[in-house]
Amino acid sequence: MPSTEMQNPLLAEWAGALELPPFEVIKPDHFRPAFDRALADHRAEIDIIAENPAPADFENTIAALERSGRALEHVASVFFVLAGADTSDEIEAIERDISPLLARHNNALYLNRALYSRIDDLFDRRDTLSLDAEQARVLERYHTRFVRSGAALERKAQDRLATINERLASVGTQFGQNVLSDEKSFVMVLEESDLAGLPNFARAAAQAAAEERGHSGKYVITLARSSVETFLQFSARRDLREKAFQAWIARGENGGATDNRGLVAEMVALRAERARLLGFANFADYRLDDQMAKTPQAVRELLDEVWGRALTKVAVERDALQAMIAEEGGNFALAPHDWRYYTEKLRKARYDLDETEIKPHFKLENMIEAAFETAHRLFGLSFDRVDAVLYHPDARAWNVTDAQGRHVALFIGDYFARPSKHSGAWMTSLRDQEKLTGNVRPIVLNICNFSKPASGEPVLLSFDDARTLFHEFGHALHGMLSDVTYPLIAGTAVPSDFVELPSQLYEHWLEVPEILQKYALHAGTGEPLPKALLDRLLATRTFNQGFTTIEYTACALVDLDLHSLPDAAALDVAAFERQDIERIAMPPEIVMRHRLPHFQHLFSGGSYAAGYYSYMWSEVLDADAFAAFEETGNAFDPATAKRLRDYVYSAGNRRDPADAYKAFRGRLPTIDALLKKRGLVDATASSRQGAP
Ligand SMILES: [Zn+2]
Repeated sequence: MPSTEMQNPLLAEWAGALELPPFEVIKPDHFRPAFDRALADHRAEIDIIAENPAPADFENTIAALERSGRALEHVASVFFVLAGADTSDEIEAIERDISPLLARHNNALYLNRALYSRIDDLFDRRDTLSLDAEQARVLERYHTRFVRSGAALERKAQDRLATINERLASVGTQFGQNVLSDEKSFVMVLEESDLAGLPNFARAAAQAAAEERGHSGKYVITLARSSVETFLQFSARRDLREKAFQAWIARGENGGATDNRGLVAEMVALRAERARLLGFANFADYRLDDQMAKTPQAVRELLDEVWGRALTKVAVERDALQAMIAEEGGNFALAPHDWRYYTEKLRKARYDLDETEIKPHFKLENMIEAAFETAHRLFGLSFDRVDAVLYHPDARAWNVTDAQGRHVALFIGDYFARPSKHSGAWMTSLRDQEKLTGNVRPIVLNICNFSKPASGEPVLLSFDDARTLFHEFGHALHGMLSDVTYPLIAGTAVPSDFVELPSQLYEHWLEVPEILQKYALHAGTGEPLPKALLDRLLATRTFNQGFTTIEYTACALVDLDLHSLPDAAALDVAAFERQDIERIAMPPEIVMRHRLPHFQHLFSGGSYAAGYYSYMWSEVLDADAFAAFEETGNAFDPATAKRLRDYVYSAGNRRDPADAYKAFRGRLPTIDALLKKRGLVDATASSRQGAP
């Protein structure tokens, strides 16, 4: 029975001590009526602002826009947390219905001529309005956003843009659901006798995955990254590695209803058309114009520099792996499904270090504490576990307070993989920080996909998983420490080539010896990571970085090339990908970290379209930024931490990113620290020889 509005818990205030949505009473059939009501309310608010007979001023136009649409934000934030972290057939159906409606709603807002003319008028008079710096920034952001959405175009172009946006929203939703469907439909069910090479933690995870999927007494490998990657790393069964790997890289490319290739072609063509309508030669030009990088040329310069060096490094890595195969008497050429396996063996041989030796030291619970303590030492934050009814029993909440005991945020951690969760790891929020309608503090979530062992077993992370936890927690801090007045520029609402700075920078503290010694405690004995093991672990930091760099950078280059097409009608996605990786001389032993048919960063919502380079752009910043701490000799140097908080973690989008970085560091970054971090410095001499 459909609920009436009176009973709809999504439209009620979030009462309760923690001001959380009332998850215990929210049902999927509450969403559609709540969306309908909240969309109508927001439309009415926008009409009042746009048709206000009084001349435009900051308060009656910009501040009024900032206050509008609160009910919609509430409903949407709850919905999209569930759609990502605990979805169902019902939620997926609503998502398919609602995404074009939300696109249409945004069109009505950003293509509203009456509203735009008020904003444009204010923007023209901005120097006479006595705005403070933050207000001036918010006005400029609104103006830019409206212009980039097509508010200044003629009606016919606007109508076409509106159609394109709605279609992109539908196709993007379908794309993500198809990937999840392909991931769910693949399980590799194994017998005890198929597990050669797998360490105990991997067996336990495979056993738990089998249990969860009704294959009691057997073992299941899924396409969740932590499951399949672990299998590829350890399984001595080359045939099974190949089978799992092929399924993994074929997500979205299996023919039938979940095949994404047609959707990719359509989205790329629509984006190119949108860019042309807005006066740009192609989508990459359009997209980068409002990023820190500004132009595709600037991105290419960075990627090409790194790519050339990484090719040199990866050739050495490949030869070492091939030599290992030969030593074992293997009579085959290294294939993509062999890379992780022989790398793991080489790591053990060369550094006397293997994942099974490291992993017992990285208990999830300790790593959460380590991330908290880092935030305490840098920013004075404290974290206290609180009882909260959330959307899934695996999710848990902490109350976050500052050094004066004031409430800063509510933090929710949801760490385990499950069939109802999309793959990957991300930060999101149920409420963002602002001071426009009172001192509103944020509710921030980290969603991860770590393997959950059978009950009673400690949850052990790989070093990479621990890094992911720190990464997402860095994003969470960017949301939680936010200290701005206007919601538009709060927290992580910064250009995407800057947004990975707070997250990637945070990863550095995982490798700080004081943190490791205190929190990397053996799950069985409680002993800290021995100094010798720690040294060996840190010595491997640049090991296999050629592979990691190639796997990532290929994706960034293909993304940029794809979105630089001036016209993409009749695009053959498979052929494009093949030709482009040939153009960049991709080593045949490595496959792109995300192939186009399942590249969710680009096509599931599209927030990283022509923007996958952002991680490396931000890495230039994070490597250089951490060097600021190293130069003081103290990884927690208070003065540096204060500048970091003032200009990055708490500053939202208050300043242009380049200005924010300069305010923190005293200068713009150089690429040197990144090259050192990835072990690409040694390649300098050889790659630069003969260069003009
Ligand atoms: Zn990130």
